Amino acid sequence: MHVTTAAKPAQSSPASLVTDVIVIGSGAAALSAALAASVGGAEVLIFEKSEKIGGTTAMSGAGTWVPANHHARAAGIGDSPEETLRYLRAASPQGWQATEDHLWESFVNHAAPMLEFLERHTPLRFELIDEPDPQAEKPGGRVKGRMLSPRPLSRWLVGSAYARKIRRSTLPHLFTYGEIKEHDPYGHPVTAVMRLAPTLLARVLTNRAGQGSALVVGLLRGCLDHGCRIELKCRVTGLIADSATGHVEGVEVDQGGRLERCLARRGIVLATGGFEWDRELYERHFPGPLDWILSPNTNTGDGQKMAAQVGAAVDHMDQANVFPALPTVYEGKLHGIPIPFQLHPHCIVVDRHGRRFVSEFDYNLGEAIDRRDAKSGQPLHLPCWLIGDSRFLHSWTVFRWYARHKMDWMRRAATIEDLAAKIEIPAGALVETLARYNGFVAAGRDADFQRGESAWERYKSGSTDGGHNLALGAVDRPPFIAWPLNRSIVGTKGGARTNERGQVLRPDGTIITGLYCAGNAMANPIGTRAVGAGTTIGPCLTWGYICGMQLLKENR
Ligand SMILES: Cc1cc2nc3c(=O)[nH]c(=O)nc-3n(C[C@H](O)[C@H](O)[C@H](O)COP(=O)(O)OP(=O)(O)OC[C@H]3O[C@@H](n4cnc5c(N)ncnc54)[C@H](O)[C@@H]3O)c2cc1C
Repeated sequence: MHVTTAAKPAQSSPASLVTDVIVIGSGAAALSAALAASVGGAEVLIFEKSEKIGGTTAMSGAGTWVPANHHARAAGIGDSPEETLRYLRAASPQGWQATEDHLWESFVNHAAPMLEFLERHTPLRFELIDEPDPQAEKPGGRVKGRMLSPRPLSRWLVGSAYARKIRRSTLPHLFTYGEIKEHDPYGHPVTAVMRLAPTLLARVLTNRAGQGSALVVGLLRGCLDHGCRIELKCRVTGLIADSATGHVEGVEVDQGGRLERCLARRGIVLATGGFEWDRELYERHFPGPLDWILSPNTNTGDGQKMAAQVGAAVDHMDQANVFPALPTVYEGKLHGIPIPFQLHPHCIVVDRHGRRFVSEFDYNLGEAIDRRDAKSGQPLHLPCWLIGDSRFLHSWTVFRWYARHKMDWMRRAATIEDLAAKIEIPAGALVETLARYNGFVAAGRDADFQRGESAWERYKSGSTDGGHNLALGAVDRPPFIAWPLNRSIVGTKGGARTNERGQVLRPDGTIITGLYCAGNAMANPIGTRAVGAGTTIGPCLTWGYICGMQLLKENR
């Protein structure tokens, strides 16, 4: 037996603990795996590095993409795993089908059963959100039925001690995902709060929250009800593997400087999230400017490193959930909050040459921003800028607040030429780009990028079928403003390669027995290009569920 460590431990002590299943992390992937294993009768121990429970998941909007789910069926919306697979094949980047198809198949077959399982074994109840697939026009795409989010739950459901430990978000989880869609509290905070005042007051009084808070409360309640134990401030520092067979049979855990060894009879699930907070690893895979990171700073790629140390194949390390974000302060430090502030008629996004390169309303704007040169791997467009006019600036309370309080971050000028000089992009190109775009607005059609025309973009702009294209608005009223719109990272999506059962693989395709991986810690079969809003949480929950179910079947 040998131990591989991702970081130098303090003091070592002999193995003191044996359990059935060890789950590393406490986000969607981890808690879903723990729930599945514990409902199946296993004794489960969850280790979480942070003092808070829930990881990025607890901070999230918990928009959850689960195709062919029972809520859609009840609402009379037709869907099937086969249709979803067709969609995944059509909507994913070229070449991915060759390596990911068997994983997509496993996902589409397990996603809906996973959702039913969660509702059966936890207090979680989901509601449908009427968001289309971002590429609904592709074969197998749907304009509604695949997107859900949890109904609010009281944090007190997990008991007052755990309630205080649920990670807080940068988002106001007083609202549900559906209410955010309907009442736009970012754009119109006062109106939204006034309209929902009685509901919000009741939520404050009962400690109820929606979105990621509800998701983690519900999952944790389910796990506790089925006997799972959760240990906080316990960083897993290494995997214990048999030197002859490579079988992973335990972990080393740093508990505040004291090193414990813990063995698992039936399996270990790595669900440690992304590596975005490990500067060296991040910069190696994501060259170029970074605006903000949105996840908790405990996501430092420990799972990716530990998997590699026991011989796992590591893949998709250049993939991430890239989303527009604004700066905020979280846990006393600068942090990102995901707000698609470019979804506004009176602005455009340009690259370092002053040219547009994508529809600003495209759900996968992040993928376009992150586009790399095939040979050098360097970003093609960065640094990027949002260019807006006075109507943009004055439309949202949030924008005005940023304009007043974050002067260095937002540049402002009376002319386009002066603005171009301030952000060091060619003035002639920017003037030309705006003239061309404003021409499209006058003509009522964006001939370059068809802004506002897809089902997703119509939904986001509020345009009705055949009506005026509300995504288009001129950018021609001074003052003009420029905001950086580079990569902001919600979470990286590269890590250990797994098979369709969640088992971690070596580069030669053989299985590292005993070791499973799920969520952002795995080589995610859905990468930077999102195929649905919520295509991280839905798959994270599903892969956790697959791991939890499979390890019980395979290691009786
Ligand atoms: C504000 C915000 C909104 C979002 N909204 C959505 C949305 O609506 N829909 C959607 O699909 N996605 C959304 N996301 C993204 C989504 O939340 C994440 O992709 C997803 O939650 C990742 O889940 P995970 O289980 O893989 O990892 P996480 O939830 O990040 O959990 C990983 C956990 O592992 C712990 N850990 C790390 N290393 C160790 C170690 N060595 N030992 C023990 N524990 C360790 C970490 O501390 C962390 O708690 C959002 C993200 C943010 C920040």
